[in-house]
Amino acid sequence: MPWRLLAGLVALLAGLLSGPAGARADPGPPREPEPLKAVSLQLLWHHQFQFAGYYAAVAQGYYRDAGLDVEIRSGGYDNQGRASAPVEEVVFGRADFGTSRADLLIHHSRGLPVVLMASIMQRSPLVFLTLERYGLTRLEAIGDRPVSLTLPSIGSQTRVSAETLAVLERAGIDYRTLDNSPPSWKFQDLLDGKTQLTPAYSTDTPYFVRKAGATPVEIKPTDYGIDFYGQLLFTSQRMLDDTPEIVAAFRRASLEGWRYALDHPRQIADLILREYGTRGPGYDQAFLLAEAERIRELMQPGLIEIGYTNRQRWQQIADTYRELDLIDHHSLDDFLRAALPPQPQLANLWAWSLPGLAVLLGTAGIAGYLYATNRRLISEIGRRRHAEKALRYHAERDGLTGTLNRRLFDENYQYEIDRAHAEGRALSLIIFDIDHFKLINDHFGHLAGDRVLIDIAAVTRTLLRATDHFGRYGGEEFAVLMPDTSLAEAGDIARRLNEAHRAHRVADGNSAIHYTVSLGVAALRPDDNSTDSLLRRADQLLYRAKRAGRDTLVSETSAIPATSPE
Ligand code: GH3
Ligand code: MG
Ligand code: MG
Repeated sequence: MPWRLLAGLVALLAGLLSGPAGARADPGPPREPEPLKAVSLQLLWHHQFQFAGYYAAVAQGYYRDAGLDVEIRSGGYDNQGRASAPVEEVVFGRADFGTSRADLLIHHSRGLPVVLMASIMQRSPLVFLTLERYGLTRLEAIGDRPVSLTLPSIGSQTRVSAETLAVLERAGIDYRTLDNSPPSWKFQDLLDGKTQLTPAYSTDTPYFVRKAGATPVEIKPTDYGIDFYGQLLFTSQRMLDDTPEIVAAFRRASLEGWRYALDHPRQIADLILREYGTRGPGYDQAFLLAEAERIRELMQPGLIEIGYTNRQRWQQIADTYRELDLIDHHSLDDFLRAALPPQPQLANLWAWSLPGLAVLLGTAGIAGYLYATNRRLISEIGRRRHAEKALRYHAERDGLTGTLNRRLFDENYQYEIDRAHAEGRALSLIIFDIDHFKLINDHFGHLAGDRVLIDIAAVTRTLLRATDHFGRYGGEEFAVLMPDTSLAEAGDIARRLNEAHRAHRVADGNSAIHYTVSLGVAALRPDDNSTDSLLRRADQLLYRAKRAGRDTLVSETSAIPATSPE
């Protein structure tokens, strides 16, 4: 093989393996120092020792040496009670870097262009905090105690902690049965008994509870086999694609800062108090030093290299999220791209003989390049598709039952009416409403009522065809539009729906909820000229079914009756 070709291949492969982030040694004449590049870091919480590494990197000049001028922005809640959202800040380009929790993977899997840079805390600081005097040591014993966990709550947009959901799931607790209110994040509520269990950071709240004279008890996610990473450092896909060298430099300097901070906790605690300011007077040097101890336990710098990211652990976290239906099948490659060391070890190759190397470079190098490019492309396409799918799904579905929402149902309705008229096809509609649903809500509670709605959607689906349109039309009123279906066929489906719902039982703790529905069935007529006349007729027939005593269906007598029903 000619030497020039070999040299070319070596250069090509070296270039590919070092990637765009690879620093290229350029022994040219000394140049003027470049101006520092201004970048920002959005923290998830207030200035505390949990971000010590970043302050240290500023104070020790690590960022400056890396060519960066870093602004560190405090997180937590503002005066209006709004929580800072680093993911949002970074995605919208208002900040370059952010700190987050393992939920970052959920955001990524839903199509937000965020990538991990380093797993700063090897263990999660989240604990469920209670007091010794409440006698609660296991989640299974919550019963009807008042608790305040970050859980989905009906009709409000509070933060949801995937870690909390995962732990409850492992503990076999249905979160909907809990007497839960959103956390106030004030440990005073725990002392007052307003709540007996609240999420907390093991790195700060227990310290304050102890200081107030109470004995905190921490229930840990790891007790239930949930072992997530704690604080993460991340950036946007765009930042990584456009300026990989800045991302790499910020990462290196930050980790160096962390090493320094853990070795000099007192100096950094003073620095935080002096230069950044903490949340309040209680957050003093003694607190920051106690926090530093707990942070050290979560980072385990003696055992694990700071910032170390393990693919298998992320795979386990992804599996847990998948079990909880929080993410779909998902490739980690993109997410971990900036956090893992480059895979192939070029150094080992030099041990090979030169001719062998040439052949290897010629084939494996190019094949490897194509393979990597393809994979990146495929994963990018997959990611976009997934994001579009998720967006569309949320815009078109009812959040509780997964049926079409009213907007999409109306759109499909209009389309099917036009098509049936134009092509002379049959089209039928069933509208049904739960009987005495108010009583069900009153007797079993609103959450149980929601479960009835979920079951109704599931039971109904089993009797429909793929071409039928099934929507939630009002609070507890559903509509089924069936193309190419005659009135007689629709009447038959309605009867089966009536029976299936009457026979179904909704599990609610130890009891089973029984319910019935009333249905109205109508078919499109050639002389239906206004779009909603079919809907109106079906609705009137449903009303007649209610008046006839409920748990029944009323159908039009023929597709073109002599007189229209009421
Ligand atoms: P009827 O047999 O006449 O239909 O009696 P009803 O009690 O079902 O009466 P109505 O249709 O007027 O009441 C509907 C109730 O459904 C009122 C409302 O509180 C409840 N509801 C509506 N949407 C939801 C929901 O998303 N979840 C729950 N749990 N209840 C809902
Ligand atoms: Mg009703
Ligand atoms: Mg109703």
